[in-house]
Amino acid sequence: MPRVQYVWSTALQAAADQLPANIGRSSIVHDLVFALDLVENAVQPDQHLGSRDRQPRGRVICPDLIYASFASLEKYHDKAYVEYLLATSDQSTTSDDEAGSKRKRRRTELHGLEHDCPTFDALPQYACLVAASTMTACQLLAEGESDITINWDGGRHHAMRNRASGFCYVADAVLGIMLLSKKGEAKGRKGRPRILYLDLDLHYGDGVAQAFLSPRRYAINGGQPRPPQVLTLSIHHRSPVFFPPSPYSDLPAENTTHPFTLSIPLSAYPSRMTYAAIWPSVERIRHSFNPDYVVLQLGVDGLARDPIGQFGSWSVDGEGGVLWCVEQVKAWDKPLCVLGGGGYNHADSARAWARSTAVLLGREISSNTPVPEHDHWPEYGPSFTLEVSEGRSLRCG
Ligand SMILES: [Zn+2]
Repeated sequence: MPRVQYVWSTALQAAADQLPANIGRSSIVHDLVFALDLVENAVQPDQHLGSRDRQPRGRVICPDLIYASFASLEKYHDKAYVEYLLATSDQSTTSDDEAGSKRKRRRTELHGLEHDCPTFDALPQYACLVAASTMTACQLLAEGESDITINWDGGRHHAMRNRASGFCYVADAVLGIMLLSKKGEAKGRKGRPRILYLDLDLHYGDGVAQAFLSPRRYAINGGQPRPPQVLTLSIHHRSPVFFPPSPYSDLPAENTTHPFTLSIPLSAYPSRMTYAAIWPSVERIRHSFNPDYVVLQLGVDGLARDPIGQFGSWSVDGEGGVLWCVEQVKAWDKPLCVLGGGGYNHADSARAWARSTAVLLGREISSNTPVPEHDHWPEYGPSFTLEVSEGRSLRCG
């Protein structure tokens, strides 16, 4: 049985609940995981002691606060951005005069902290704790303390080095991958470890791809080509009007200058059959790259009823569904960090991620399982089960 660790703390949940695009989602997700008795929770009182059986459970690990710091964020992010990000709760009082207001507006625009990424009171804590949670998850893998780590509050794949973007303020996946590439081990060969980043969110994972662009694969001025340690692969919907615009979100050309920045763009309404149809390509890429570690971004805004994704028709069950994809990645039998991401129908996101947690534990929880009574039980009507409606369009995108 794999050793599964589940990153969570009350402080992380409270801060993540304030994310403007997903108010309250963190509580809904974690409370369902706890209600289904999927993790050993040393912090909250256990209400299932009487029914304890030998079912495997994940072990709750709090984010290591050593990573919740300016210095940690600065390992990837631009210093001026981190300064602005961590001072945002004071921004409204920084200056009343016109010149000060203009300066503030310029910085806000420069760092993307407007429109879909507004500042909010808990932003400094949120940024630090989300970064720390994914870095903790990756540290456990690098130390060999865990086989699978789960962080549903992570996976903020649009955040850039010097600005927020697409509801993402901190590039936690980038920071985690950087930690793995530095502290992890290459298995059975010399050199640094290789890390595969696989992104299944409906949106292109531009922030992570951008961070690990590797044109240095090619010799410049007669220098030796140096294969990069990180390969990013994003499977996503792409159309001229769909976020985010990126030159790398298209199918790479055969002579691409960035062969480790891969992308499989899908037409609108990709269904589970689409994912099943393209999976052999994922397997070939994985096999060729032969990673030592895998980081999976499991955004679920491609599910059929997602109000922001809108162009998805993915399912949780069935071949090509969320759980099937998780099974395939788990079967690679590599140290695996699983992150959240998009998911704006909060009850469906919780259903998908709770059942993914079960799959990673080697447990099976069927879709017709009633949602146990807990604080968020009313969110699961009218079915009050774990079933997520099958995507309507069962065609290949
Ligand atoms: Zn998304």
